[in-house]
Amino acid sequence: MMPALYIHIPFCSKKCLYCDFYSLPYSKDFASSYLRVILKQIDKLDQDISSIYIGGGTPSALSLETLDKLLKGLKRFIRKDMEFSIEVNPESVDKEKLKLFIDKGVNRISVGVQSFDDKKLKELGRIHDSEQAIKAIEFSKGAGFKNISIDMIFGNSGENLYAWQSDLEKAAACGVQHISSYSLSYEKDAPIFKMKEEGSIAPLDDEVMAEMYKYATAYLPEKGFQRYEVSNFAKPGFECKHNLNYWGNNPYIGIGPSAVSYMGGARAENVKDVKEYIDRFNKGMDPAISREELAPIQMARETASVKIRTKEGISYDWFKDKTGFGFLELEKDALEGLAEQGLIEYNKKSARLTDKGFLFSDTVSSAFL
Ligand code: SF4
Repeated sequence: MMPALYIHIPFCSKKCLYCDFYSLPYSKDFASSYLRVILKQIDKLDQDISSIYIGGGTPSALSLETLDKLLKGLKRFIRKDMEFSIEVNPESVDKEKLKLFIDKGVNRISVGVQSFDDKKLKELGRIHDSEQAIKAIEFSKGAGFKNISIDMIFGNSGENLYAWQSDLEKAAACGVQHISSYSLSYEKDAPIFKMKEEGSIAPLDDEVMAEMYKYATAYLPEKGFQRYEVSNFAKPGFECKHNLNYWGNNPYIGIGPSAVSYMGGARAENVKDVKEYIDRFNKGMDPAISREELAPIQMARETASVKIRTKEGISYDWFKDKTGFGFLELEKDALEGLAEQGLIEYNKKSARLTDKGFLFSDTVSSAFL
């Protein structure tokens, strides 16, 4: 099976308050050194690729010239039918960059909108405003993108259900094909975690968060966006192939600091530091600092844990084909417990999340591991 390719661009203009991804402030020189390294790595790849995803960080923070070099380096992998996505942020994407993306074969764009409410954007620590978000979407359409995704966040401390409804209405009406709708979480390495600990912000109650999620799952399908994974909604045919590859536990290659590769049943995680990443590469060392061979049973459990997040859940035939294990036998204990809690429904052919299960998908995923 052809692997998917993920390229991490670890630079952002400014850290958002809720973010725990690995990224640093953008610097032109640093970005150029980093690009030289990843282009050499891309050059060495000797297999066909099923999809390409350039994420971050903020890929659009790179200069036009740097983006041009990166996309030229990827040219030999591009096939007409393949999905090729890039993430952009409203403050750093412009018409020239969008034209370059289209010219170089990028056919899916993911815009980090997060909200159309300026007050909420400020509270999240975003540096763009709603006008820039709308422009980024309109410019993407104008450049010729027919597959546009936006990220939305709900549940910041100043938000209520009514505000989220209004935000989501704008998301559904802005003419995109895909919406990722994430609940705000307080990750330990993110600045808002500290703010919560100090008492300067108060997280919303779980019940309010659940209401917000439920609203999205009812409203977006009404507007033509079907939920195909816990947080992802798409118009028919616009489901993200790159992410479906991941939820199918299929192979992928990760380039860049903090990126993970999963090939031949082994997982490798790259060092989480750009400077060290560059140094390791220049010294001829592997940028991966951890490598784990997965036993077949571990691989099967991990497959269950990610695939259950999808709308269709797990077909036992598919699971047997994929892992060699019978799903019911392998996950018997977990399944019974989860079904008792109303999180999973299963029959003789397949298992899937219930509506309540979608709310507690992390609990279900962990139970299968
Ligand atoms: S949320 Fe995105 S733009 Fe904000 S700091 Fe994290 S990676 Fe950068």
